[in-house]
Amino acid sequence: MSKTFLRKLLEWNTTNERQMPWKGEKNPYYIWLSEIILQQTRVEQGLKYYEKFILHYPNIEALASATENEVFKDWEGLGYYSRARNLHHTAKFVVTTYNGHFPTEYAAILQLKGIGPYTAAAIASFAYHLPYAVVDGNVIRVLSRFLGIEEAFDSTEGKKKFEKIAQDFLDKKDPATYNQAIMDFGATVCKPIAPLCDECPLQSSCFAYSKGIMHLIPYKSKKIVKKQRFFNYLIFVSEAEMLIRKRHVKDIWRGLHDFVLIEEVALLSRTALQKHSSYTALEKNFSGNIRSSYFDHHQVLTHQKINARFFIIECEQLPIINDYFSVKRKKIGNFAFPKLINFFLEEDFISFK
Ligand code: SF4
Repeated sequence: MSKTFLRKLLEWNTTNERQMPWKGEKNPYYIWLSEIILQQTRVEQGLKYYEKFILHYPNIEALASATENEVFKDWEGLGYYSRARNLHHTAKFVVTTYNGHFPTEYAAILQLKGIGPYTAAAIASFAYHLPYAVVDGNVIRVLSRFLGIEEAFDSTEGKKKFEKIAQDFLDKKDPATYNQAIMDFGATVCKPIAPLCDECPLQSSCFAYSKGIMHLIPYKSKKIVKKQRFFNYLIFVSEAEMLIRKRHVKDIWRGLHDFVLIEEVALLSRTALQKHSSYTALEKNFSGNIRSSYFDHHQVLTHQKINARFFIIECEQLPIINDYFSVKRKKIGNFAFPKLINFFLEEDFISFK
């Protein structure tokens, strides 16, 4: 079965290979960058970030010597900022520990922060031709449909099973070509919705196709219930400055900037805000007015939905609040913010005089 699969997949690959700038790349630094950028990101979106990172940080030393704010600023809009934080951390680690040379063994690559089995296998196979199978969403989908695997891929058992099968199916002679081919095939033919079964070379041996259950596979056990959070942001602004902070807390958006935050069980009305104990405690520090209107935005993350309300508070002098610092309003673009806040700044705040 695996021989037929391999032959047909590689045949398909000779005429259907997707062209991308990192294809055929042997430099582990570039491979690593592309793989981290492409996690949870569409190729079209990731492409311009990859090009920007290669341009700004042409080698791992350049990335290691950048500031966190520079890296975050370049990452802005891509989301999942822990990827950027880990990227920066690992660049510094590789420079200090390995003298700037990426480790060449799978186990050592896997030890690096932010690199899981998938990325380690991609780097090991693409850069060094080591026989490690990548297991990403595309690979899981292709193999589970083709073989009719019933285990949920997000269960402990399922993960082990998929890793074993992927490794068994791997072309040990040319792991780089095989790994790329199966991911491309999953992305372009055996797609999550409406797979192109009519043009699929694997159709005659495909379990899911024979049963007409392509849409049911792969099976998933857990349904993620998103936690709802409510962020009431106070934007303290004077004529020329505004108050921001860098988020240090172990929470979402660590390392990014935001405004004075009152997290509550709901978005607050203006009246409720003015009665809130956090607000009344702050009120002693400033004299200002809440602008009559406020702005609502939300952002959906993997495990939570952030509902935010932005209150603009005009003050003659900005209050002094621990952790917060004032910045020139026209320099606000130099700081890295979460997507939700950037949206507010670009859509609403820009028109605020
Ligand atoms: S026949 Fe359809 S479900 Fe089966 S491998 Fe091909 S595209 Fe995927």
